[in-house]
Amino acid sequence: MTGNALKQLRNWVPLTQAAFAEEMGVPLRTYEDLETGKTAVRPVHIQAGKWAVLKTTADGIKGAHLPNELADVAAKALENVALHDACPVCGRPGTLQAPRTGGDYSEYTCQNCSTFRISGTAEAMWDGQSRLQRFRALAKAKSKTAPDSVETPMISSYDLK
Ligand SMILES: [Zn+2]
Repeated sequence: MTGNALKQLRNWVPLTQAAFAEEMGVPLRTYEDLETGKTAVRPVHIQAGKWAVLKTTADGIKGAHLPNELADVAAKALENVALHDACPVCGRPGTLQAPRTGGDYSEYTCQNCSTFRISGTAEAMWDGQSRLQRFRALAKAKSKTAPDSVETPMISSYDLK
């Protein structure tokens, strides 16, 4: 993957490099190096770029114009994905919360913590937990997931004790 892929995403919106970098959650310098090819573009950067495009579109920033095909996907995605105020673990704003489609858990996607789930029981205990306890619980949940597994880490009530 090259920086062109990121530039193409950015031009869809369109945002300046600085604004796009901010939406992606990377420093401007890092973004410049990615777009110019000084730093290798990894899949995580493309994901963050897509996120920046979706978020900008959702915010209704003037001049944002997606190709019809992507606009359809964006509209459907935004119907199904709610923006959570803040990550329940690290507190970062702009975290995605997937809808509960069955299963007693909530799923969050955060740029710091990646994707994780919190069981219904753990969620009921959540407010009483300190930030440190929350980080520990996520670390425990992640340690129970095999590194090469596609399984999403799930914080259970046991991780909070
Ligand atoms: Zn987080």
